[in-house]
Parts: sequence; C-alpha cells; structure tokens
Amino acid sequence: MPRKIAVYPGSFDPITYGHLDIINRALRIFDRIVVAVAGNSSKNALFPIDERIALIREVLAGNDRVKVDTFDGLLVDYVLSQESTVIIRGLRAVSDFEYEFQLAQINRGITLEVETLFMMTSVPYSYLSSSVVKEISSLKGPVDNLVPPLVKKALEAKFS
Ligand code: ADP
Repeated sequence: MPRKIAVYPGSFDPITYGHLDIINRALRIFDRIVVAVAGNSSKNALFPIDERIALIREVLAGNDRVKVDTFDGLLVDYVLSQESTVIIRGLRAVSDFEYEFQLAQINRGITLEVETLFMMTSVPYSYLSSSVVKEISSLKGPVDNLVPPLVKKALEAKFS
C-alpha cells in the first residue's frame, strides 16, 4: 500500500501547542506529515525561516514520521512534489473559516488532484495563535501553556 503523506503548510512564526496538536492528531491518520513553512510568509515575521524550521525540528526531534521543510511558489505544486495529495489545515474560530474556505477553493481551482482536509482545534487551543503568543511574550507575559519551553526561550531572546 502506498504511504499516506499529508502536507501541513503555514507560517509557524513560531510553532505553538495548537500546531503540535494538529500534527500529532494528523499522525494518527497519515503515515508521514510534511510540515511546510511558507517561504513567502516572511513579511513582518519575527523569526526568519531558518529559525522557524530549526524550532520545529527541535520540538519534533526523534519523530521520524515528520519532515520539516520550506517551500516557495504554489502550494499545490509543492504538495505533489512531496508525493502527497493532501493539505492539512486547522480551524479555530468561525473567523478562520472565510480565509480557509477561499484558500481551499483557490487550490481546488488550480488542481482537483489535491484535497484540503480541515481539523478542528482542540478546545484548549481555540484562541491560540502565533500572533497572540508573540504579543504576550513581547509584554513579558506567561506563554508556558501556549508553546514548548524551547520556543518560549527563543521568544524571550527576541524580546530581551
Ligand atoms: P498561516 O499563516 O498559513 O495561517 P499559521 O502558522 O498561522 O499559518 O497556521 C497554520 C495552520 O495551523 C492554519 O491552518 C491554522 O488555522 C492552523 N492553526 C494555527 N493555530 C492553531 C490552533 N491553535 N488550533 C488549530 N489550528 C491552528
């Protein structure tokens, strides 16, 4: 049977427990997950792409079913290049829906080969986003329940 591979694209600036929850749940369905940091998402980013990738790799160290990568250009082309036909996205509040719906329709307009699958956030992470984490951290607030310790450290280094 062919291996089932899904691509989980995003900015991951930085990775949070919300992202990790989606990755771990997706690993129950797929054999491999490619976490793909969008190269064109660098505008106004706190962490450069290589630091975001390094953080994700450290957080997921030892998990040989996860690959961490970056991509430029069309997402659907990248997905096919990874021998995958599935894009995983997470949905939090209703406010995510409009953007995600548009993105999925655009990708579907480009090719019907690639399907977008949505996973609902777990309740504790419903309001967790990288932006919220950056804001709290910049104000020296507690982020222990939001990001892994090494991401917290990296945030503190940025805002020190
Ligand atoms: P993007 O800039 O592409 O939205 P993000 O890194 O913000 O990239 O998010 C990547 C994906 O992870 C998106 O589908 C987003 O909805 C999802 N996501 C982010 N935070 C959470 C969370 N707390 N719970 C569930 N999904 C999430």
